[in-house]
Amino acid sequence: MTASFDTIRDREQSLMMQTYGRYPLAVSKAQGCTLFDLEGNEYLDLLSGIAVCSLGHSRPELADVMAEQARKMVHVSNLFYQNEQLDLAEKLLDTCDADRVFFSNSGAEANEGAIKLARRYMRKVRQTDAAEVITLQQSFHGRTLSTLTATGQEGPIKDGFDPLPPGFTTVPFANVEALKDALSPNTAAVMIEMVQGEGGVRPLPHEYVEALKELRKEYGFLIIVDEVQTGMCRTGRFWAHQHYGLVPDIFTSAKALANGLPMGAVLATEEVAKGFEPGSHATTFGGGALVSAVAAKVIDIMRHDKLDQRAAQLEEWFKLEATKLAQRHPDKVKGARGLGLLLGIELTFEGKDVWKALLDRRIVCNLTQGNILRLVPPLIIEKEDLKRFLKELEEVLEA
Ligand SMILES: *Cc1c(COP(=O)(O)O)cnc(C)c1O
Repeated sequence: MTASFDTIRDREQSLMMQTYGRYPLAVSKAQGCTLFDLEGNEYLDLLSGIAVCSLGHSRPELADVMAEQARKMVHVSNLFYQNEQLDLAEKLLDTCDADRVFFSNSGAEANEGAIKLARRYMRKVRQTDAAEVITLQQSFHGRTLSTLTATGQEGPIKDGFDPLPPGFTTVPFANVEALKDALSPNTAAVMIEMVQGEGGVRPLPHEYVEALKELRKEYGFLIIVDEVQTGMCRTGRFWAHQHYGLVPDIFTSAKALANGLPMGAVLATEEVAKGFEPGSHATTFGGGALVSAVAAKVIDIMRHDKLDQRAAQLEEWFKLEATKLAQRHPDKVKGARGLGLLLGIELTFEGKDVWKALLDRRIVCNLTQGNILRLVPPLIIEKEDLKRFLKELEEVLEA
């Protein structure tokens, strides 16, 4: 590493709370699908800021909207009516079956809002005491106290933070019997990711979702879908639940919503949205004019460029190529999984060295669960870039 990299790493270590295991890379500029380090070297970005910058980094059309809106109105608070927010709400609701939206500032905060809405709906509208939220093992729902409790993982995410809030149960992934055992009149909601992102790029089987729909009819709990990572065209549909013909009672969005500006959303049916009344939930920043104007433009571009279809097409091609790779190296590659451009390549061994070798070749991806190389590239990624990744991965595996 260079002297300038050492300097920036040392500054980080002396100034910041030490919460992140950072990559050995300092980024000075990001454009399209490329990250630039301090020396101006180019890296192929297959992470897009963790599924955030789906339209690519520093997108000029969005920079224009930001600049224009920044000179007109950035934030006045939710005490006031603002067309920017309503224009966004209209566009967002037009992509799905939900009827109403609440804007937050992050994924965790959107999930927190979803949990609050589910509980309050049960209390105030259904007039039951059902309050429990069931989530799946290996899920990830955020880092606030409730959402980390909802998260179905042990380890540093939970360690040392007790007492954790009550009212959460975690059941094994995609196991209908275990879910049935956990259901009770006290169940307010079952909260799922259609594809577990942090949990190793695992799509929920269709049979499981069908069973979940039936159980919802029988028990009357709500289905909350965490689309923080899977939403906004990422999986080949605008929302991942649309692959399953599922109408969630509540679902959440965040990561890609404003292409890098912090924003989240809770979306719900007309019925369930009755759970909130004036005063029952709020945020200072959420849905401010600047982020709303940018997110509205994001939706326009995604729909105009049909980025959902693009993601689906690239998935099909990528999985075919990755399968061939697995056939050439059955001892090293198990195969590919995922939906759209939320992709995982499963290695047969601990993949840290492979991940690092790719980074040395200036390709940025990420490793989850020890052996899954996870790709969440910008949705504007070129097939040539993915080809390069596969070629260099094969060279690394053969080295
Ligand atoms: C990233 C993520 C979150 C948390 O979002 P933050 O904006 O980091 O709070 C929640 N759920 C899922 C599925 C995520 O991928």
